[in-house]
Amino acid sequence: MKTIIGVDVGGTWLRAARYDIDLKPQAHARNTSYPEKGKKPEGEEAARIVFERLVATIRTVIPERKEDVLGIGVVLPGPVDAKTGILIAPPNLPFRNAPIRQMLQDALDIPVFIGNDADLAGLAEHQHGAGAGSDVMIYITVSTGVGSGIIIHGEPFSGRGQGGEAGHIVVAPDGPMCSCGRQGHLEAVAAGSGMERIVKNRIAAGESSSILDLAGGDPVEIKAEMITRAAQQGDALGLEIITQAGRYLGIAIASLMVLFNPDKFVLGGGVTDAGDLLLKPMHAAIQKYAMNKLYWENTPIVMAKLDKDVGLIGAASLVKLRQMQGVRNEG
Ligand SMILES: [Zn+2]
Repeated sequence: MKTIIGVDVGGTWLRAARYDIDLKPQAHARNTSYPEKGKKPEGEEAARIVFERLVATIRTVIPERKEDVLGIGVVLPGPVDAKTGILIAPPNLPFRNAPIRQMLQDALDIPVFIGNDADLAGLAEHQHGAGAGSDVMIYITVSTGVGSGIIIHGEPFSGRGQGGEAGHIVVAPDGPMCSCGRQGHLEAVAAGSGMERIVKNRIAAGESSSILDLAGGDPVEIKAEMITRAAQQGDALGLEIITQAGRYLGIAIASLMVLFNPDKFVLGGGVTDAGDLLLKPMHAAIQKYAMNKLYWENTPIVMAKLDKDVGLIGAASLVKLRQMQGVRNEG
């Protein structure tokens, strides 16, 4: 029986799963990215150790008859050049311009396909989740950061490798600094980390808010979910920040609508747990800023369906997609 292997590489966990051709899981494995004991390795030494642990994790789900595996899909954090198979510079892993696809293929002797985490989460939602059946779909996940996957006619779109990054489009040119070091990006005003930074600054400037009580009186402990909870209880600062995040998300979506004219948006990530507090100002901004209602009238914005396995399913979906296209090991 033919099988597919999905792999999710993160800064904390390495996960692998074997699926049948309909993506029903057959086996799971996971391991920490770094050894749990001793000093955390750095630089090239760290890259070698993480890679060895990755190969070992994948090996545990490879079936006895290796020739039954159609391919190994690998979800990687950070920018990926899918054409050359190079992992450019992930923020949470020690690889720098690593030819990761070739390295894995050499180690495992099975075709390997790689992609960026948000792109492949989008592909997973398109093939097996809330985006099923759509032609042009945009997936946006709002959690610690903002990630996006643009799926055009079933294919993840990332330009030359670094495109489709909705988290770093400019929505507030004079707004706060983004985690990427530039100013006014969507992530800086709508992601959990961005909201936390804004709230901490406002509280440091003397503003009072029940968010500080939820953090036990220590501003360092302020987390995005506390901002949401405070907003739900009517806290003025919490409401303002969530409303603002929703508005900026809507501004970004309005721009994506006129650029791509998608037939569906899929939203995921913990920040969307704020529900209508976030979504109402988002819809209001879309209707205010999109060029006309043809862009939003029949464009559903739905919640993501897939949960924690979205990366593994996205990785396996990529193998399926490439196999259908008859590609052996590109992209
Ligand atoms: Zn940015």
